[in-house]
Amino acid sequence: MGKAISALLLATLLLSACSGNNDEDPVQGSTATAPAAAAEVTAAPTEDTAGTVAPSASSPAPEDGTKATIAPAASAAPGSSTATPPSSEPAAAEIPLLYHMNKNYDIVPNEEGTDKKVVLLTFDDGPKEAEMINALMDTLDKHQAKAIFFVNGYRVKEHPELLKLLHERGGIIGNHSWDHIVLKDKSYAEVQKQIGDVQTIVKEITGEAPAFFRPPHGAGGDVGKQVAAENGMLYMTWSVGSLDWEMKEKDTAKTETLVKNVTDQLHSGSNILMHELPWTTQALDTLLTTLEGKGYSFVDPRSIELKQR
Ligand SMILES: [Zn+2]
Repeated sequence: MGKAISALLLATLLLSACSGNNDEDPVQGSTATAPAAAAEVTAAPTEDTAGTVAPSASSPAPEDGTKATIAPAASAAPGSSTATPPSSEPAAAEIPLLYHMNKNYDIVPNEEGTDKKVVLLTFDDGPKEAEMINALMDTLDKHQAKAIFFVNGYRVKEHPELLKLLHERGGIIGNHSWDHIVLKDKSYAEVQKQIGDVQTIVKEITGEAPAFFRPPHGAGGDVGKQVAAENGMLYMTWSVGSLDWEMKEKDTAKTETLVKNVTDQLHSGSNILMHELPWTTQALDTLLTTLEGKGYSFVDPRSIELKQR
């Protein structure tokens, strides 16, 4: 009992520590909203520019002798042979790979004729609360939309049942590192642990290791890209920021602001960054309805090739 209480206390502390001070992806104080590929190459403020100017996003293969460990990225998700998808869900292998990700982290059809007016929905920094997860999934279901939930290992460890809930409700689980730290300046071994431990715990709980990786703060660096590739994952930041991480509970008109933030930057293939936050949960139905009204549909993440090109 004492253990349960202290776990609860710790979770509460973690939660308040994170939500209280913008523990979110983009670098604090930046006005940039989309650290897309350009940010990797140029000096856009939010991405990992320090010392890593090579546009290596297009070639995630490591340059040294570690090549042999690279998983076959374009095929099925790692671990899919042991996967246990919910019975109503088609197996990942049955979903045709119709799209790929370009250097701007946008989603692009492989062939002409495939609908290009799609967006990718993503929610970072969970899993936090069953209530929010259920509400998000209810809204996604209502719009027949799939989304990637980029989770942190420390949260999964605290609440494995929440990851299970996300998975069982049809959320696609992505890897957002164990501790939500900036990875780009860390050693290879440390980054490997930050990423690999999340692969392990997610696979233990859901039967599938994540196929998508997003570095915390959008700053994975070359080392993050390398380790993601070695784990068979597609590395991405985002191309449209909802800026939900800048909002506060006391702010008014958060739904309107969030919808405007997204629609202001909206384009075909938008990779939309959101978070598991109360106001985002609240705004989601309006946002999805707005996007549908503009002729967009929601891409199934499992239809995206796991290799950027
Ligand atoms: Zn994050």
